Amino acid sequence: MPPEVRKGALGGRGRKKVRGGSAYRSGMSPEFPWNDLTPLGPNRVKVRVPAKINLTLNVGQRADDGYHPLLTVFQAVGLYDEITAMPVLGGVISVLVRGAQAHLVPTDGTDLGAQAARLLRSRYGLPSYGASIEIDKQIPVAGGMAGGSADAAGTLVACSELWGLELSPNELQLLAAELGSDVPFSLNGGTVIAHGRGTDMVPLMCRGTYYWALAFAETGLSTPAVFQRFDELNGAAAPKRPADVPHELLAALIAGDAKTLGKMLSNDLEPAALDLCPALADTLAYGRSYPGVLGGLVSGSGPTCAFLVENPRALADLVGELRVLPRVRAAVGVTAPARGAHLISAHSSAA
Ligand code: ATP
Repeated sequence: MPPEVRKGALGGRGRKKVRGGSAYRSGMSPEFPWNDLTPLGPNRVKVRVPAKINLTLNVGQRADDGYHPLLTVFQAVGLYDEITAMPVLGGVISVLVRGAQAHLVPTDGTDLGAQAARLLRSRYGLPSYGASIEIDKQIPVAGGMAGGSADAAGTLVACSELWGLELSPNELQLLAAELGSDVPFSLNGGTVIAHGRGTDMVPLMCRGTYYWALAFAETGLSTPAVFQRFDELNGAAAPKRPADVPHELLAALIAGDAKTLGKMLSNDLEPAALDLCPALADTLAYGRSYPGVLGGLVSGSGPTCAFLVENPRALADLVGELRVLPRVRAAVGVTAPARGAHLISAHSSAA
């Protein structure tokens, strides 16, 4: 661990709290193994973290480093995974995933929640700290909604609270960027413009509430496979740099003008996702022509389809219809923008 990182983060707020603050028994050092009497802080922390959609996703040609330059507008939507973290003795970190698609998340310790907890623990020099993490998974797996990134962001917030680290938003953002390109956005939430690999973000002014119907496909799509197909379909015709985000889209967000926003939705990966999953074309055509729908697109690398709807009533009607479409596993109606990863409860048995 670079000494300056450890000093910067723990020499100040984090370390003070862990050593002698209210979260842990006075006199305990974080280097000491925990025993049943050690933690006096919360013994059950719950965090909620949202899914994202891309209002526009502009993709440039694959660069020499293998990555595609991106320019995108992310919006966090009110579909959440919930992360519960409890302290465990002896430095064990375990993750249990619940939900209809839990079986699709790896169980060999490589899931993004476990990676986030391990990164946090090693960066702050706390090898004896453990956590039992439960993820109630509502965000589709491999659905183009950054579900894995959401779990990484949620676990960072949950474990830093559980372990009494008191990290600043900036410290959390730096850790998030190490875990993956969408993780900083999952922490931040709201509506942002992001470029590069998605880690450089600027929050956008966004008025109003937007109503989204989300149609989940029966199977997921692998993000690398979709980018690969993007290369095959576009070859050298893809622009070196991603196109700019249209001013009309930014102006629509500022004005809270859902009608114009609906017309501006776009996704350069959509043809590739449709090529890999042709059934999505029917879902998209159905949703786009439904009364009250202002626009629709494939979310990120797909296969989730997202439809912007003019009001809650039209939203409920559309969701009911999407649910019975063939090849649609499930459909939900949500509002946006949503808050990024946030604590919803922290209980202590000592309290
Ligand atoms: P993105 O939109 O960021 O490209 P995605 O939403 O399409 O990603 P994820 O749900 O993040 O896809 O899952 C991508 C892969 O990551 C899955 O196939 C899964 O095996 C793996 N994975 C690891 N940890 C998790 C997790 N906690 N939740 C979901 N997937 C996970």
